[in-house]
Amino acid sequence: MRAFAYLGQKTAGWIHKDRPRATGYDAVIRPLAVAPCTSDVHNVAIDCLSPDRILGHEGLGEIVEVGELVRDFRVGEIVAVPPVTPDWRTVASQLGAHQHCDGLITGQKLSNSEDGLMAEYALIRDVDANAARIPENVSREGAVLAADMLNTGLYGAELAEVSPGDTVVVLGIGPVGLMAVAGARLRGAGRIIAIGSRPKCVELARFYGATDVVNYKEGDVLRQVHLLTDKKGADCCICAGGDEQALSQAVSMVRWGGTVGNVNYFTTYGDLPLNNVRWGFGMGNKTIRGGECPGGRARMEKLLALLRYGRVDPTPLITHRFTGLDGVEDAYRLMAEKPPELVKTIVTI
Ligand SMILES: [Zn+2]
Repeated sequence: MRAFAYLGQKTAGWIHKDRPRATGYDAVIRPLAVAPCTSDVHNVAIDCLSPDRILGHEGLGEIVEVGELVRDFRVGEIVAVPPVTPDWRTVASQLGAHQHCDGLITGQKLSNSEDGLMAEYALIRDVDANAARIPENVSREGAVLAADMLNTGLYGAELAEVSPGDTVVVLGIGPVGLMAVAGARLRGAGRIIAIGSRPKCVELARFYGATDVVNYKEGDVLRQVHLLTDKKGADCCICAGGDEQALSQAVSMVRWGGTVGNVNYFTTYGDLPLNNVRWGFGMGNKTIRGGECPGGRARMEKLLALLRYGRVDPTPLITHRFTGLDGVEDAYRLMAEKPPELVKTIVTI
């Protein structure tokens, strides 16, 4: 089969590979819609994947083959898959840390340690536990964006423990940050201060519920937030963009007792196998919680319920659409170039 993969040497391109076969609890899907993620581009850039690893972890597809132990899905059904499709049979999963089922951030197997979705066929591990049917009135585009963008943004709001009436800062308003704005609103935030500059993202931030927008190009962000909050600071801050400095800004922006939820990767690949120790920390009087978005079927079903019952619609994030498997490369290249008007691309296959 044809697939878009990491080639090694910090480049991505087309390869031919044997198509996967379903055994046991697994299924094979024929991807029908996929979206390249910033982390696909990032993983290629930092050379952290094995050569020939197929990219893509946001998508949905038609089941074409199921293993002999699969109970709840049949060939022909269309399912959405979250990026995190963990091994649920590990001790870490039993401890409630399925995102880290085989060690720190190992729950996202698709496109990391197992082949991803940018191919003619893709293997879905433990499909009964890791895939969800798409409700009738939910669009395929919506389901794809729910899998990672809504999932991760909402998780930022969950980590930040946004409570009704809270003043929330959302640092970074790319697609995940925008879904963090939506997530903060879903959890009942009062004031939502979004930090960003690109006009398209600012427009969408207001659409999803931002009450204020702070442009870091117009002066020191910390100072602007402190002035906006009468020097009190926000109740919580969701860090969804920027570098390590953004995290220290986030800590400074919240009041005493406030909470920072981080869903941003601060990876410095090289000295440690995925050096994410920077966000395994704690502090005296503020709480910092960071993590990889949850995965599995139950999470995916809840995300789809938000779409099904009209609570949030992530499809306005889509600024560029492509069709056909070849469109995967165009969409990926666009994500890598990141023109100012780009928020999110999707490919219908
Ligand atoms: Zn992603």
